[in-house]
Amino acid sequence: VKRLTRAAVLAVGSELLTPSRLDTNSLFVTAELNRHGIDVVFKSVLGDDADELARGLEHALGRVDVVVCSGGLGPTADDLTRDVVATVLGRTLYTADDLANGIRRRFEARGLSMPRINLRQALVPEGAVVLANQVGTAPGLWIEHGDQVVVLLPGPPRELRPMFEAVAHERLAPRAGGRVIVQRIVRVTGRSESHVEEAIRALYRDWASAQVPVMVTILASLGQVEIHLSARAPEQSEAHRALSAAVEAVEERLGADVYSSDGRAMEQIVGDLLLTRGWCAALAESCTGGLIASRLTDVPGSSRYVDRGVVAYANEAKTSLLGVSTDLLAAHGAVSEAVARSMAEGVRVRAGVDLGIGVTGVAGPGGGSEAKPVGTVAVAVSTVLESRSRLHRFAGERTLVKFQASQAALNLARLVLES
Ligand code: AMP
Ligand code: MG
Repeated sequence: VKRLTRAAVLAVGSELLTPSRLDTNSLFVTAELNRHGIDVVFKSVLGDDADELARGLEHALGRVDVVVCSGGLGPTADDLTRDVVATVLGRTLYTADDLANGIRRRFEARGLSMPRINLRQALVPEGAVVLANQVGTAPGLWIEHGDQVVVLLPGPPRELRPMFEAVAHERLAPRAGGRVIVQRIVRVTGRSESHVEEAIRALYRDWASAQVPVMVTILASLGQVEIHLSARAPEQSEAHRALSAAVEAVEERLGADVYSSDGRAMEQIVGDLLLTRGWCAALAESCTGGLIASRLTDVPGSSRYVDRGVVAYANEAKTSLLGVSTDLLAAHGAVSEAVARSMAEGVRVRAGVDLGIGVTGVAGPGGGSEAKPVGTVAVAVSTVLESRSRLHRFAGERTLVKFQASQAALNLARLVLES
């Protein structure tokens, strides 16, 4: 029989087409399929509408080996998946007595009688295999259609997850291509998406044609660019080896702009570097309003290396709490590298710690000037050995500027700690 390599996920439920509910089942299903080496080539969200469902299913059957549907297996009139699938595949439905009895017992165990409509959940398309549901009343279904497979799963995530895990392991894995897909994420900061692409593009052709091919996707998000690398191979170890080589090649080309290649976030990287050195940090934040302290302390165990944070917006606060001189403020303005450096040094010396971080900037929407428009941010890091600072010009509204400022400050701390 044909190997199962390409899948589609159909998330069924009108609520998923409104802003009130998010389709998360497809993410879980995709991760499981990938683990067994099956690619998801597209997914759809479909309302509880027989016509839309039928077309969605027909479309999927025209393109992939495996169709996984979630939702629409409940007992109520809006639950249409079972009927539509039976019609599209040309199967009649019969009542499976053991299922009907099982559902009846679930109700009786709670001292209730089974509503008649629940009998719909005991309807099974001819030739389908019933997938047990330990958690709820709706059973899942496994239907082979020629070389193709259609899997129907109930919508509630806590029911779907164990059911799909089991069916993927028992039924899909043996018929998959015998490959695994492994992913690594390389995180870069300080370069735009296209500059990252330019720097690593030359690697793509070798990756694509390698014995263990490596695929790449570049994703820009706030304050960073992510390079998602995935490798497919018969063995986990081979995929990991190919990915390690790819990550090394990326690091060689992007140098110190790569801040993470093992899944760790920026705040965790900085925390781990502080721990390695046995150092403590103190923060002086204007513009970011404590965001740097918040991000650093999102990491469990951070109290070992975060000493304190001072949020100082008023000039007077910068002077009295951090020792920034009024002359310096007058000469350079509050948003300047000189003041950021003085803030970093001031908080470090007053706290008696090894590393100080200072930030000052114009988050907007007001407060900008021609010389220092909204988005102008100075970040600085001070240690006993050195003082470093950088002036940035970030785009976007207030919260975006704040996040980018925190990222730039943490990144400067990383660079100092790594040197
Ligand atoms: P259903 O099986 O269609 O009766 O779905 C029952 C419940 O499962 C819905 O009310 C949702 O709360 C949840 N649900 C259905 N589909 C999804 C999905 N794709 N992702 C997350 N939750 C879902
Ligand atoms: Mg539904």
